Amino acid sequence: MNIILMGPPGGGKGTQAKILEEKYGMVQLSTGDMLRAAIAAGTPVGLEAKTLMDAGKLVPDQVVIGIIAERLDQPDARKGFILDGFPRTTAQAEALDRMLAEKGLKLDGAIEIRVPDEYIVERITGRYTCGKCGAGYHDKFQQPKVAGVCDSCGGTEFKRRDDDNALTVKSRLDAYHAKTAPIIPYYDGKGLLRVVDGTQPIDVVTGQLTGIIDRSSR
Ligand code: ADP
Ligand code: AMP
Repeated sequence: MNIILMGPPGGGKGTQAKILEEKYGMVQLSTGDMLRAAIAAGTPVGLEAKTLMDAGKLVPDQVVIGIIAERLDQPDARKGFILDGFPRTTAQAEALDRMLAEKGLKLDGAIEIRVPDEYIVERITGRYTCGKCGAGYHDKFQQPKVAGVCDSCGGTEFKRRDDDNALTVKSRLDAYHAKTAPIIPYYDGKGLLRVVDGTQPIDVVTGQLTGIIDRSSR
C-alpha cells in the first residue's frame, strides 16, 4: 500500500507515519528528514537547503524530486511507502505521478491530516526528538513516560529543529497555504483523497488513519 500523508507543518504527519510504519511494515519517506540528513552530512544539497529551511521556505522542486526519485528506487520502498512532506507543490505532485508510472507503482490514497493554523505554533514550538533514535516528543502532548528518558531507546539527549521556532512558523504556514494546500483538490479529483481530524489526540488520529487503510486494503 502506498499513501501520501498531507497536512500543515506540525500537523502530525511524522508522528503518524512512524506509527503506521511500525504497524504495517511500510516505509516512511520524509523529504524533511532526508534534507536534514543532507545538511548533517554537509552535502551540496544540504548546503543549498539549509538557508531555505531555516527561513521556512520551500526547497526547489527539482532538488526534492531528485531525492524522492532515488529513494523510491531502493528495495524497501516496494514494501509500501508513506510519503511525508512530499509532494508540496503541483509540480512535485505531477512529477510524482510520472515517477510512479515509470516505476510501475501506484498510489492507494492521499490522506489529509487537517489541523487549523491556530494549533500550529504550539505544536511546532513544543516539538523535540530523541538525539539517539529520533523518536518524537512534545513538551505538552507527548511526553516520555520517565521525564528526560526516551521511551524507545533509553537515550537522555534530546534535540530541537533549527526551524522549529515561532518566527519561521508563519512563513512555513504561508508556504503551506500558497503552494501545498492547492494540491489537495488534485488528489480529490483522482478519487484518492481522505480527510482525518488532526486536532484529536494522537491515538484517535491513528485510529482514523488505520480505519481508512484497513478499509481500502480489503
Ligand atoms: P509534522 O510531521 O506534520 O510536521 P509532527 O508529527 O512532528 O508534525 O508533530 C508535531 C508535534 O506535535 C510533535 O511534537 C508531536 O509530538 C505533536 N503532535 C502530533 N500529533 C499530535 C496530536 N494529534 N495532538 C497533539 N500533539 C500532536
Ligand atoms: P518538514 O520536515 O516536512 O517540516 O520540512 C522541513 C523543511 O524542509 C520545509 O520547511 C522545507 O524547507 C523543506 N522541505 C521538506 N520537504 C519539502 C518538499 N517536498 N518541497 C520543498 N521543500 C521541502
